[in-house]
Amino acid sequence: MNDDVVTIKNRLGNRVVIPAHHYELDEVVDMADFLGDSYKLAVDCSKTRAEYIVFGGVSFMAEGAALLAGSDQKVLIPDPQAGCPMAQMITGEGAKAVYETLSARCDRQIIPIVYMNSHADMKAFCGAHDGTVCTSSNASKIVKRFLDEDKSVFFSPDFNLGINTANDLGIPGHEVVTVRRDGTLEGADPSSARIFLWDGFCHVHKTFTLDDISRLRSSHPDIQIIVHPECEEAVVTASDYAGSTAMIYNTVKDAAPGTVWGIGTEYRFVARMANTFSDKTIIPLRESICHDMSRITLEKLTVSLASVESFIKDKGPLIHPVTVPESLKKDAKKALQRMIDIVEAS
Ligand code: SF4
Repeated sequence: MNDDVVTIKNRLGNRVVIPAHHYELDEVVDMADFLGDSYKLAVDCSKTRAEYIVFGGVSFMAEGAALLAGSDQKVLIPDPQAGCPMAQMITGEGAKAVYETLSARCDRQIIPIVYMNSHADMKAFCGAHDGTVCTSSNASKIVKRFLDEDKSVFFSPDFNLGINTANDLGIPGHEVVTVRRDGTLEGADPSSARIFLWDGFCHVHKTFTLDDISRLRSSHPDIQIIVHPECEEAVVTASDYAGSTAMIYNTVKDAAPGTVWGIGTEYRFVARMANTFSDKTIIPLRESICHDMSRITLEKLTVSLASVESFIKDKGPLIHPVTVPESLKKDAKKALQRMIDIVEAS
């Protein structure tokens, strides 16, 4: 099976690329042309001139590649069932209704900010309402920009990234409102609130606990704990560092040999780092796996690549192409561009 992917890929040459997320199975990562977190993959895909992008990741990532792809490029996902439960916790339509309710109750203009881990309809909603996208590495910068302009922010879908960002910026709890998925509001007075947080979550990161940290600190007194900001607020507070997938990778890569790291993020990524950086001791806080990422397998990758080859040869059907409706593209791209402008200007 491995030979099949390699053989087809060699025949297709630079007409095809395979991007893969860090949380993918080893067999998929081994076939990847480039590897990264959701932000890096979107940037790298926007730069490739390959006609076919066969995406090793979940659906919102493939959708992001399709959003930025040229008219001569096609994006495929080997399994369209590979979704992200967190990205599915809010829709553009649902957000619009909540946004209108919040705007009617808040004294300030509210800017919608959506995490990269979201579908195109959410990005388009933000683009159409003066809002933007953010990533786990630039969330603080993006949120601060709007708070500094005396605006309030509606942050979605990940509550934990939102509250950890608010803490980073020193926003007190009495200025934060939680917006439950049933529409109820909890916390601050909405008229004066600075941040409205949707209560979505990533089950892979929400699973880490303070006990996981205590256990590792007891068994390894010199350990340094580093976690992703999608983890619970208390877990981030009890850790030594928190940051994006890229930040975690670079921090561990650059650490001195012999150092000991307890890491709170997806298990396959942690296990791969433990193999790569064998001069350090790397221990997962616990084995938490993203099963949606596991849906992309070598077998399905082979089927996708074979469909590209048959499409080129005799117009056979492309299997699981990913497209973004034209009606969403303009506003979704506007939201992405605004993020880039804010980050580059600072
Ligand atoms: S790790 Fe969490 S945020 Fe990432 S794809 Fe899986 S469920 Fe979604």
